[in-house]
Amino acid sequence: MTAQETTIYFDHASTTPCDQRVVDAMLPYFTSIYGNSSSRNHAYGWEAENGVDTARSQVADLLGAQPKEIIFTSGATESNNIAIKGAARMYAKAPAGSESRGHIITAVHEHKAVIDPCRRLEREGFDVTFLEPSADGIITAQMIKDALRDDTILVSIMWANNELGTINEIPCIGKICKEHGAVFHTDATQWVGKLRTDVEADNIDLLSLSAHKMYGPKGVGALYVRRRRPRVRLQAIQDGGGHERGFRSGTLNVSSIVGLGAACAIAKEEMEAEGKRLSALRDKLENELMSRLEVVEVNGHRDHRLPHMTNISFGFVEGESLMMGIKNIACSSGSACTSASLEPSYVLKALGVGDELAHSSLRLSLGRHTTEAEVDEAIEGIAAAVQHLRAMSPLFDLWKEGVDISKIEWQSH
Ligand SMILES: *Cc1c(COP(=O)(O)O)cnc(C)c1O
Repeated sequence: MTAQETTIYFDHASTTPCDQRVVDAMLPYFTSIYGNSSSRNHAYGWEAENGVDTARSQVADLLGAQPKEIIFTSGATESNNIAIKGAARMYAKAPAGSESRGHIITAVHEHKAVIDPCRRLEREGFDVTFLEPSADGIITAQMIKDALRDDTILVSIMWANNELGTINEIPCIGKICKEHGAVFHTDATQWVGKLRTDVEADNIDLLSLSAHKMYGPKGVGALYVRRRRPRVRLQAIQDGGGHERGFRSGTLNVSSIVGLGAACAIAKEEMEAEGKRLSALRDKLENELMSRLEVVEVNGHRDHRLPHMTNISFGFVEGESLMMGIKNIACSSGSACTSASLEPSYVLKALGVGDELAHSSLRLSLGRHTTEAEVDEAIEGIAAAVQHLRAMSPLFDLWKEGVDISKIEWQSH
């Protein structure tokens, strides 16, 4: 039996299935419209270029941007690298090899695809501030205001967090960065296609997105690069044929780009209704689990978050046993596999969630094809697994008797 037949998919924040309409739009580009979109001398090239042009408009349309401001990439990881390294190196206050090349602001609970480029820039002589979020996972405009310095050249703050779904104060942060004259980049991979984006109104200079998080194919994404008020310049990472205005050389992945465009067009039409439907299902999932079980905590802000996901911790259960108990539900846990051991999620740690609770937390993210029957089945499955594990937990018994667990002195021999 396939995973699809046995397992409920509640891991849409990791990746989404490709929408059938996206696949249908892509198919001709493999076998009949197969030209190189840079071939200027014949109809095969023009046809492929038309497909790319349409996709560029569709992506721009979803963002409130101009088509010329869209650069196609292999995904959000690459978009983040081009944006963050490209802007830092372009606007550096001192040449490579020097110290104090400029100040960058980001946050500790960003995706690794932002953290790691920033870490590399630190080694190149840039000074990076990693902000701590509030206890409910938010980076506020005030935090940015307080962290800005005269030599701040770049601010990179994600729109919505991939583990929590929490939403940072992006429009206000954009405004503050503009007033200060710092380039503002946002990793909007989890946001775009879920809630409305307007790069003009929200003062965004650089924005990363990925097709596979919004019902498009894997391995394709885009970077929005502001061209006016102000024109943002980037030092390219990859040298070659000068494609994509020189920001990203390499033959364009035409079929995938067409898929990304189609995914954006569908999202623009459907995201509002989809968000309403999914938030109702998400709330049902959350409320049912919280009413059936004790010691359940939602991690991150309950209001300022994406409509389709929740991150929820279950006290008095062991993380790995919980995952084993809900094998028919595909979701992410609060543990990350680093080399040989399981580490608690650094995002949950940043919120002050203890290691035990982090390990026993689940990120449940619903999607376009999620049904209410699946939500009901997940509620039953998770509640049963937690109750089963707690029935075997002496600590849970003590807690129920009113013993303050944190005050127990463990005896060692
Ligand atoms: C998934 C994700 C990425 C990485 O995107 P890819 O297209 O897989 O490289 C980056 N940032 C966030 C917030 C994500 O959720």
